[in-house]
Amino acid sequence: MDLFSKARSRLDEAARHIDIHSDVLEKLRYPKETLAANLLVRMDDGSRKSFKAWRCRYDDTLGPTKGGIRYHPAVNMEEVMTLAFWMTFKCAVAGLPFGGGKGGIQVDTKTLSKAELERLSRTYAHAFSRFIGPDRDIPAPDVSTNSIVMGWIADEYGSIIGHPSPAVITGKPIALGGSRGREDATGRGGYLSLHRMLDDFGLKPHSSRVAFQGFGNAASHCARLLSSDGFKIVAASDSRGAIAAKGDHLDLDAVLAHKQQSGALDGAPGTRSISPADLIAYDCDILIPAALENQINQNNAPTVQAKVILELANGPITPEADAILEKAGVTVIPDILANAGGVTVSYFEWVQNRAGFYWPESDIRQRLADMLEPSADAIRDLARHHGVSLRTAAYILALKRIATAIAAQGTQDFFSQVERR
Ligand code: NAD
Repeated sequence: MDLFSKARSRLDEAARHIDIHSDVLEKLRYPKETLAANLLVRMDDGSRKSFKAWRCRYDDTLGPTKGGIRYHPAVNMEEVMTLAFWMTFKCAVAGLPFGGGKGGIQVDTKTLSKAELERLSRTYAHAFSRFIGPDRDIPAPDVSTNSIVMGWIADEYGSIIGHPSPAVITGKPIALGGSRGREDATGRGGYLSLHRMLDDFGLKPHSSRVAFQGFGNAASHCARLLSSDGFKIVAASDSRGAIAAKGDHLDLDAVLAHKQQSGALDGAPGTRSISPADLIAYDCDILIPAALENQINQNNAPTVQAKVILELANGPITPEADAILEKAGVTVIPDILANAGGVTVSYFEWVQNRAGFYWPESDIRQRLADMLEPSADAIRDLARHHGVSLRTAAYILALKRIATAIAAQGTQDFFSQVERR
């Protein structure tokens, strides 16, 4: 199955458990619109180079579409559509007035100078300037994009429309209308979701060992929060290699300082190198995939020793692996809840930009917990009620919320009643 079909199979699974009108499923089966562009960029050596780029608005029933822009050499239209599909359900799980969107540029950012990266980002803003907009489609950061990139895109968009419009994009630097608390929001959301369910798993912070696959923005903030509660971070990996603590747990400050200096985790003080396969199979209580899609599949799922998997990444577990893990009694806290903290604080940023009134960080943290914790509780209750996994329960919750809005526009039943009258 391709990535998009795999993602849609989760929707079909959820629909089997509730009474959903076929009109609703028909609307959610395909993206509303996807725009492809070729970005022609002047490189530092004077040559011109083309980069493939996309933006997809999957569904805007609940509001303007929302989702990050990914810069990655392997990104393609199908991946962008799938990520936009996940965003549709994630925004609904978090109770946000947004639909789902996503964008991407096929590029290896490590091969670009900073000036080339800026020109590429501004060219993206130009190419998609009629597709995005504060009431239409609001991008944000994703893999290999950060607040500086968001600031360039906001600036370029503002110059195209003739005035600043910070609400066109979120994840901006605070000085350019960004929100306090956005930097660690995804990691914090994962941390809150895990905490909310910890008792159900019979786990306690001080005796829980945690391993991370991927150690970028989402993972490093989550690791810091977990570690400050006493969780033991015992292993981690990035695209260049994997490490495990020689002692009881990793010294996070030393590991992050080493990564900042050398660009890699490997060789951090107090650690030994392990293979990426060993990281997935590491002897721990909680495994946190925080890199890319399809990392836990039918080949390595049987090796997982963790009791709980918290999906900080989007789509890190394939449906085949899901079935293997469920049989083995491993509980998965699904991505559309576990990493919804980022888009939730992005929503706060959009609200603050539109109101021109900025909130202190304490408000952001409180509001984030106020939005995510009831969703986590609702998902747990639905899972118990229907006897399904937390993932299926999360899709049921999202589907119910989207379906209510689609049905409010009239389903087949409504129109056939009008006919009879
Ligand atoms: P990032 O670029 O900051 O970090 C990605 C990390 O993954 C890096 O450490 C990289 O080295 C590592 N990595 C890449 N390939 C790997 C591999 N094969 N094995 C091990 N590690 C690998 O990105 P991020 O923003 O932290 O995003 C990570 C995941 O979280 C993505 O799936 C993203 O879609 C998801 N996510 C991020 C946010 C956010 O706000 N940052 C929000 C929601 C979801």
